[in-house]
Amino acid sequence: MAEFTLELNDDQKQVKEWLHGFAADVIRPAAAEWDEREETPWPVIQEAAKIGIYSLDFYAQQFFDPTGLGIPMVMEELFWGDAGIGLSIVGTGLAAVGVLANGTEEQIGTWIPQMYGDADDVKVAAFCSSEPDAGSDVASMRTRAVYDEAKDEWVLNGTKTWATNGGIANVHVVVAVVDPDIGSKGHASFIVPPNTPGLSQGQKFKKHGIRASHTAEVVLEDVRVPGHCLLGGKEKLDERLARARERAKAGGERVKNAAMATFEASRPAVGAMAVGTARAAYEVALDYAKTRSQFGRPIIDNQGIAFQLADMRTRVDAARLLVWRASWMATTGKPFTSAEGSMSKLYASEAARDVTAQAIQILGGNGYTREYPVERMHRDAAIYTIFEGTSEIQRLVIARTLSGMPIR
Ligand SMILES: Cc1cc2nc3c(=O)[nH]c(=O)nc-3n(C[C@H](O)[C@H](O)[C@H](O)COP(=O)(O)OP(=O)(O)OC[C@H]3O[C@@H](n4cnc5c(N)ncnc54)[C@H](O)[C@@H]3O)c2cc1C
Repeated sequence: MAEFTLELNDDQKQVKEWLHGFAADVIRPAAAEWDEREETPWPVIQEAAKIGIYSLDFYAQQFFDPTGLGIPMVMEELFWGDAGIGLSIVGTGLAAVGVLANGTEEQIGTWIPQMYGDADDVKVAAFCSSEPDAGSDVASMRTRAVYDEAKDEWVLNGTKTWATNGGIANVHVVVAVVDPDIGSKGHASFIVPPNTPGLSQGQKFKKHGIRASHTAEVVLEDVRVPGHCLLGGKEKLDERLARARERAKAGGERVKNAAMATFEASRPAVGAMAVGTARAAYEVALDYAKTRSQFGRPIIDNQGIAFQLADMRTRVDAARLLVWRASWMATTGKPFTSAEGSMSKLYASEAARDVTAQAIQILGGNGYTREYPVERMHRDAAIYTIFEGTSEIQRLVIARTLSGMPIR
């Protein structure tokens, strides 16, 4: 088991440098354009695919890095380049992790490659859980999956919302209710293969930030998928449902939800995205403060500015430490006894929101315009306290874990 270390090994340093080069030379120069266009930056994804940054192999390598630092390093560098383009590149990973976490070996081997396509024909994937009435409250999900035994098919009906890559994905992973009597324990995940009739894109959202990333509703009308598209398979589902029904009958003993454990492990990755955006804004502000002169001296000569920069950098580094700790814990199988995954996401996302706001302040009027990138970074940063569990939900998870009380 890898010891926790703050030092990247030689391989990791090389990968980091390579990613940073791509972020600086390809992503950053394209960021303003795709933010304005509010469209998926297919040419940038293609460039990433050509050099191996957008590929199953690369993410698998980083995902299974025994130190746990591979994925946070990738996220930080790509999102340092730009958050909207960064999410367009890594958004497929959400769906891939859904299959990796719950699928059989055969499902993993069949579907994950189709999520990425190849350098000549890149594809994306979408993970569809949220619904108009089921955001933080996942148990309120209404999308139904009903088994048609005669045909060995599942029939899906419902509306998903806020799906990253929803409707433009080659493969959609859809979470649906299979037993409405046992809340979130009665949910299961399904693959919806390419071109399946009945799946369509609803509204595409016009957003405040990460505008290069496509976010849309996904409408499911009598979508029929073969039995083998149920992630994990029917036998495993039946066993899990039987156990959950028994527990519910026995008085609803609180059991650790597997989905919650998965979230704890995936939240540091979102924290790392936030670290990337925060670091980018801090660097722009530091450079600006050194070169902008007022009252005959660089503005960084004033403690009022220099101390802000000191605080900003301290928060970026503290956020990274929490993210790396949680990622190492997830990879080495350490139990999250204090909800360390949620802690890292909570702290990093609020740091990104605040650091990007401070960066605007340090750039003054220029910071408020689209001539400089910090305005975009601040709009982008607002997502981190919302998706993959809002800040309030992270605090709830941490408080419940620490206290053992069902805090509401
Ligand atoms: C750009 C973007 C991309 C997304 N991508 C995906 C995706 O790919 N797949 C997917 O499934 N979903 C995705 N989401 C959905 C995202 O995860 C949800 O928006 C998020 O979980 C919050 O749900 P909600 O928007 O319904 O807010 P609500 O749950 O309605 O929350 C509204 C407010 O109430 C607060 N609140 C709610 N319950 C409590 C409570 N018990 N205690 C205290 N405060 C509470 C929340 O913190 C928040 O401040 C995405 C969202 C966005 C905006």
